[in-house]
Amino acid sequence: MPGFEVFGDEEKKEVNDVLQTGVLFRYGFDSQRKGVWKAKSFEIELSKVVGSKYSHLCSSGTSALCTALSSCSIGAGDEVIIPPFTFIATIEAVLYTGAVPVFAEIDETLCLNPESIKAKITTKTKAVIPVHMCGSMARIDEIKLLCDQKGIILVEDACQSLGSTFNGKSVGTFGLAGCFSFDPVKTITCGEGGAIVTNDKDIYTNVDAYADHGHDHIGQDRGLEGHEILGTNFRISELNAAVGLAQLRKLGGIIEKQRIHKKEIKDALSQFKHISLRKIPDETGDSATFLSFLLPNEDAARKTIKDLASAGVDSCFYWYDNNWHYIRKWDHFKKLKSPSKLPINLISNLPDYENMSLPESDFIMSRTISMQIKLSWTKEDLCKRVEKMINVLKKG
Ligand SMILES: *Cc1c(COP(=O)(O)O)cnc(C)c1O
Repeated sequence: MPGFEVFGDEEKKEVNDVLQTGVLFRYGFDSQRKGVWKAKSFEIELSKVVGSKYSHLCSSGTSALCTALSSCSIGAGDEVIIPPFTFIATIEAVLYTGAVPVFAEIDETLCLNPESIKAKITTKTKAVIPVHMCGSMARIDEIKLLCDQKGIILVEDACQSLGSTFNGKSVGTFGLAGCFSFDPVKTITCGEGGAIVTNDKDIYTNVDAYADHGHDHIGQDRGLEGHEILGTNFRISELNAAVGLAQLRKLGGIIEKQRIHKKEIKDALSQFKHISLRKIPDETGDSATFLSFLLPNEDAARKTIKDLASAGVDSCFYWYDNNWHYIRKWDHFKKLKSPSKLPINLISNLPDYENMSLPESDFIMSRTISMQIKLSWTKEDLCKRVEKMINVLKKG
């Protein structure tokens, strides 16, 4: 997820356009801004890149998720099925809309298993949020079909997977809404930012208003705009949007390079029969930000991650222990620790998050190692890396 690796003159130029006008706000100031609309331009270009009718930028991927959920009418007391392998933001977004997170198992795609989703559906299930983890995709066609059959809303957390496609269609565009993040470690970054994409005009209208205190953005005078709904301030600034615009134009090159680098490592791994690669429902649509592989058991995975580190193979992650992406270590969530009472505290018969058991996900995550694919690797770096990896993996 290396947008930060390609920060350069293009980003500075876009930011300078904004600084020249002094208009840092994405709305209004029509005469002072001299035609500079970075957030709007970013939205138009993002829609083209992902093939959505509408895009709306937000201050973060988290605020994009909150906006998408509310805009799709997901709220107090609704059950929302999510995976245990994600970033905490997915859970937080569900909690702050007042909904109840319900966890289904992942499979070897490292994303939600459609069979497990099915098993978790109740009369209260309002939505499913598959998370397209680590640059690749969930079994999104099957999940979409299931949601359609059951009348459940599909919202995709594609925060980590801009540039990834399934059968030629961008992740984030299968459901009623999809979310992307442009935080500092994502595929492209604008410092802090996120986006919601949708093909539904009514959802877009909600999104556009919700992220800006309900403003309908009709007319030329912000003070006279109407407000159909309540919202909040999840706006992006023009400075952040400017960086993102330059980064978005680099996306194609980023993905192409990642794919080349990943292929080299993947080819070298194929000789090791004890290793299996993460299952990718459409290999050709992998954005290749990560290479993830599974060892036969937890002990082997623990030994391998340690040996990789000793051998100087950096940027490898064992999520099962790491407290960023897997639920196992999220005690603050399991205990619902918050400075204030949460809407979920008012709900009876909550899932018992502290004693929740997700054996299939544990079995997969305890064996999985992910390696970040960097853009900055030279041919020589890559060669050395592969050599070191082979030496580690040869030993078992
Ligand atoms: C990064 C991320 C988010 C949140 O994005 P921010 O821009 O950091 O708020 C949400 N979901 C997933 C899966 C992420 O990786």
